[in-house]
Amino acid sequence: MTVTDQLNRPVKDLRISLTDRCQFRCTYCLPAEHVDVMRQQSQPENHMSFADIIKVTAAFAELGVSKIRLTGGEPLLRKGVDSLIKSIKKIKGIDEVALTTNAGLLDPVLDDLIDAGLDRITISLDAIEQDLFEQITGTQFAVDKILQSIHRCAGSALKQVKVNCVVQKNINEHQVIPLLSHFRGTGVVVRFIEFMDVGNLNQWQSNQVVNSADLLNQITTKWPIKPKAASQIGEVANRYEFIDGQGEFGMISSISEPFCHDCNRARLSPSGEVFTCLFAASGHDIKPLLNTPDQLLDAISQIWQGRADQYSVQRQNILKTNNKHKKIEMFMIGG
Ligand code: SAM
Ligand code: SF4
Ligand code: SF4
Repeated sequence: MTVTDQLNRPVKDLRISLTDRCQFRCTYCLPAEHVDVMRQQSQPENHMSFADIIKVTAAFAELGVSKIRLTGGEPLLRKGVDSLIKSIKKIKGIDEVALTTNAGLLDPVLDDLIDAGLDRITISLDAIEQDLFEQITGTQFAVDKILQSIHRCAGSALKQVKVNCVVQKNINEHQVIPLLSHFRGTGVVVRFIEFMDVGNLNQWQSNQVVNSADLLNQITTKWPIKPKAASQIGEVANRYEFIDGQGEFGMISSISEPFCHDCNRARLSPSGEVFTCLFAASGHDIKPLLNTPDQLLDAISQIWQGRADQYSVQRQNILKTNNKHKKIEMFMIGG
């Protein structure tokens, strides 16, 4: 059975936030001054068990989801993510499991995750310069260790390794060329993300965004590039390849070039709420239905069929009328 929403979009991709906790304090996501807010909201005992996550994933798979992304907060703060991956891979219809992580806790568990069947990994890295990395992430974690983990992933059986870099004006624009220089020719795909107005804590302002078009101009002064075709419907990044054959990179332009028209992503929060948009104010609590599979399936199907979200397309108008409206935080439902 497949379902479509009010704008005829199927559901293909489920992003599961395993926790809203994180050991980093990225200024654009979970700014350190809001640590108290996070403490109030994050109750690990209220996080969904892996058994319950499997039930919800199986219901989504029946409705057409084939791709799962584990995210957070920092997903690797949960113990036994490898066992969760193993169980997800057994669900009929699931082709692929990916993980988004800050890589701080990756090294000791990487082999187990790969053995469990992890297909793809995305590691966040906004700066290659140590001082700037510390300033952005609010930690003193060594960039070299993250680079080592990324290179280990690139040399492993994983099908794809990506690096996510959120670009903020006058903060890390100058890291774009160094990041590309570092990863060109390694098979690792760097993706530059326009800083988004997710949540309310990051105090987003439109003048902090660097448009992908400006970044592309910066990149073309250094290397000749050409656009690459999208590999699948609903792909969030515009892809580009280096003409000299040294690989590709991507641009995620949620602000300057919204891609709501084919958005096929649903999100599950750590406490068991389904969100149909990254910018939603609230989710749908499906916890009471976890022990009644038919009702769970029916509820999720109804939620998706009722969906009409296209926040990024409507952003300008929404911000004009109410720029303070409440939105879920990124560290609660992941990227
Ligand atoms: N902690 C993990 C990590 O950082 O990779 C996974 C969760 S994090 C919320 C997922 C992705 O969202 C990261 O790549 C992060 O850079 C991105 N992100 C967080 N806040 C953002 C914002 N305001 N705009 C754009 N991307 C954002
Ligand atoms: Fe943590 Fe990821 Fe948010 Fe940074 S972007 S604070 S690593 S959840
Ligand atoms: Fe999808 Fe909402 Fe983002 Fe549009 S704004 S692409 S509907 S998550």
